Amino acid sequence: MRILITNDDGYHAPGLAVMEAIAHEFSDDVWVCAPSEEQSGAGHSLTLNRPVRLQKFADKRFAVTGTPTDSVMMALREVLDAPPDLILSGVNRGANLGDDITYSGTVSAAIEGALAGVRSIAFSQVYSRDIAGTGDEFAAAREWGPKTIQPLLEAPFEDRTLINVNFPPLLPEAVHGIRVSRQGFHDYSRGSIVEGKDPRGHRYFWFGLHPIEHTLDHGTDLEAIDDGYVSVTPLQLDLTHHAALEILAARFAD
Ligand code: MN
Repeated sequence: MRILITNDDGYHAPGLAVMEAIAHEFSDDVWVCAPSEEQSGAGHSLTLNRPVRLQKFADKRFAVTGTPTDSVMMALREVLDAPPDLILSGVNRGANLGDDITYSGTVSAAIEGALAGVRSIAFSQVYSRDIAGTGDEFAAAREWGPKTIQPLLEAPFEDRTLINVNFPPLLPEAVHGIRVSRQGFHDYSRGSIVEGKDPRGHRYFWFGLHPIEHTLDHGTDLEAIDDGYVSVTPLQLDLTHHAALEILAARFAD
C-alpha cells in the first residue's frame, strides 16, 4: 500500500513525523510531500500568482513552497509515478472541529485527495497546555492513530468523501475510545481580532487568539472530544443544502 503524507503545519513540524510513524505501521511505501512553511488557516487555497518550487530532501521526501492543496497536487502530478492508495494529512497541532474545518489546511489537503479519488483522512491533535507540559503533546495521536486507521481502511470508500479525525487533549490511557460523530458548529462567528502597534508605530491585527464558544450538541465532533473520545467524522465535498433545493426552486418558478 502506497501512502502519501502531507500537512499544513509545514515539512518540519513535529506532527508530520508523528503522522509518518503512524503510516509506517501500515506500509514501507510512505511518501512525504508537505508545504515548506506553515500554512495553518490556508484552507483549500491554491497558489496561482507566483511560482511553486519542489524541494527534494531525500528519497520519497519532498517539500513544496505553497499550500497544502499545492502539495497534494504536486505529489499526485509530479512526484509520484502511480497514485497513492491512501493520503494522511496531519497530525495537525490543534483542533479541526465544527465549522472551523473550512479554514483548515489539514482538512483541505484531504479534500484535495478526495477530489482525486484517493481515500483521504485528516488528523488533528487537540491542543492542551497540560498535555504539552508532559513533553509529548501528540501522545494520544501516536497511540490511537493506528487504531483509528485500521477500521477505516476496511470501510467502504465513496467518491468525494473524506474522514476528519481529532484526538482529544488527554494522555493515551485516559482516552475513552473512538466515536463516529457528525460535524458540530460554533455559536459565534470568529470575532476575536486583537489590535496592536508595531515598533514603527503602525497598527496591526492578529486573528483568532480567543477560544470560540460552542454548545455541545449530541452526536457532534465537539461533544466527542469533550467526552474524551477520538472523533471520526465522515465529510462530503457536496456542500449543497439539499433541503433548500425544492423550496428555492418554487421561489424561482414562473
Ligand atoms: Mn495547522
